Amino acid sequence: MVFIQTPPELGNQYDDDRVLRSYLARTLPAEVLADVTASLAAMGELAGGELYRMQLADRGNEPVLTQWDAWGNRIDRIEVSPLWREAERIAAGQGLVATAYERRHGVFSRVHQFALVYLFTPSTDLYNCPLAMTDGAACALVASGNKALIERAVPHLTARDPRQFWTSGQWMTEATGGSDVGLSQTVARQENGQWRLYGRKWFTSAIASQMALTLARPEGNPPGGKGLALFYLETRNPHGRPNHILVNRLKDKLGTRKVPTAELTLDGTLAELVYGAGDGVKNIAPMLNITRTWNSVSACALMRRGLALARDFAARRIAFGAPLIEKPLHVDTLAGLQAEFEGALHFTFFVVELLGRSEAQQISPEQADLLRLLTPIAKLTTGKQVVAVLSEVIESFGGAGYVEDTGLPLLLRDAHVLPIWEGTTNVLSLDALRALQAIGGLAVLKRELGFILQGVREPDLVKISARVEQTAGQAETWLGQATQAGEAQVEAGARRFALTLGRAMALALLARHAQWALDHERDPRTLAAARRFAAAGINLIADMNAGDARLLARDDYSRAGLILSATKALNSAAGSALL
Ligand SMILES: Cc1cc2nc3c(=O)[nH]c(=O)nc-3n(C[C@H](O)[C@H](O)[C@H](O)COP(=O)(O)OP(=O)(O)OC[C@H]3O[C@@H](n4cnc5c(N)ncnc54)[C@H](O)[C@@H]3O)c2cc1C
Repeated sequence: MVFIQTPPELGNQYDDDRVLRSYLARTLPAEVLADVTASLAAMGELAGGELYRMQLADRGNEPVLTQWDAWGNRIDRIEVSPLWREAERIAAGQGLVATAYERRHGVFSRVHQFALVYLFTPSTDLYNCPLAMTDGAACALVASGNKALIERAVPHLTARDPRQFWTSGQWMTEATGGSDVGLSQTVARQENGQWRLYGRKWFTSAIASQMALTLARPEGNPPGGKGLALFYLETRNPHGRPNHILVNRLKDKLGTRKVPTAELTLDGTLAELVYGAGDGVKNIAPMLNITRTWNSVSACALMRRGLALARDFAARRIAFGAPLIEKPLHVDTLAGLQAEFEGALHFTFFVVELLGRSEAQQISPEQADLLRLLTPIAKLTTGKQVVAVLSEVIESFGGAGYVEDTGLPLLLRDAHVLPIWEGTTNVLSLDALRALQAIGGLAVLKRELGFILQGVREPDLVKISARVEQTAGQAETWLGQATQAGEAQVEAGARRFALTLGRAMALALLARHAQWALDHERDPRTLAAARRFAAAGINLIADMNAGDARLLARDDYSRAGLILSATKALNSAAGSALL
């Protein structure tokens, strides 16, 4: 008989998710948990069932751009895949954006919303991308106080009726730079009392959206980020024709292939100022804080999906006389991945809790500082974790993980965007340094770590707590010494520093939850995750020399040679026998 391997399967993705359910049980008041459970269970059923099957069937479909109609009219229509059309309908109906704005559960509304998002995301091939920008746009418009735009757009962005629902783009990146957006070349001119935009946007995802927030430089404004202004635009006019926007082409990307990401020319696009005629980078910040949080949640969601599939497969796949799930080394491999995922989830949802408090105006000044600092740190930490975890997930399937129609390679390709968009790892590490400067250093974080860890009693967790606090102290010492050594030394170490803070925070939150799970659920699994996470290392700070880094990264032999001969000359002049 020919052997045929049974493929991995998914169950109800809420019922099966011990980590999410345990987190919610600790965090939400009983009445809130009771109220949200049905919606989460329904989303879990959809995500592990009908939507997952649809995702597998939709694998070969991609968005299609039609630039011209049969009669020679430029139409630039984008048709998204059937999965995405269904995802939009579900997203509106289940309130994936609306839940945050209806605020039925006060400070916990964001936890409810993002738990839904987390369950929904992995079965939709990153439909979370347009939703993140939609949520971000609603947030930025509300923060702007622009009454007319709020009344015009926010009811659509937060609608539950799919016929009323709008998504939004976030058009920042130009060919000159996504990180250094201050270089943006798009100009805004006032013509007959209306603003019109002229320029080229280089990466614009979810281009099928009804509106976008974008940056442009009003004529006469100074260069740099301060001279840019934040604009609102609708992508089509009331007759359904493009708003002087040409879609030049869709990007051919490594992953996120369901996401229509376009290069655009704005050729007199009608737009409205959102708030003031400058400071656009500052004014779009509320949007970025939201999209970065969606990014962290998506990272957790993709890790969880990879692990759910890998675990199920390990129970089905027989090697050397037993299922893989009984092989100590395979089990050890999966355990390390699970620990990373659990740390990421607790860290991400801690940031989500702070965001919910902030929006419900029940946040202390210290918590607001933490939210500012931890939003970029969570995004960059989880962005690195998801790529590493999914790379291992692929390997855990052996050759099947490398084969397209298993649906597995897609997970890794999609994950790989998470450290790039919404701010790369380096850019966010530098942002975390700016945040620290604004909030006066690490004192707030250290106090919070102490608070998080204060109830820990289990001996291993007490040791872990000491390690976390020691690491925070070492990070603070490094920052002080690097600052003394100069800006180049601080910048060079910024990524290691930010990841150290991120991993320390994740471990502290794991330890707190582990103690709670032991006390309330008699469940030692979070304790096991905390031990594993700690063993993988949290302190990435190393005494590295920025000058050495320059030599290695540039690999500039002639420069290195020059330095070496200069050193030799110096040494021989001094009679040194060293060289
Ligand atoms: C699939 C996809 C969809 C996207 N969708 C959108 C969208 O809808 N809207 C939008 O506005 N943008 C979008 N982007 C663009 C994305 O946000 C940018 O690619 C990203 O911000 C990086 O900008 P860049 O590509 O210009 O790279 P650069 O800014 O040129 O960066 C290149 C490298 O340099 C590093 N770097 C930059 N500055 C520094 C520094 N000071 N110190 C140390 N290292 C540094 C970066 O970390 C990076 O590794 C999308 C990108 C992708 C891949």
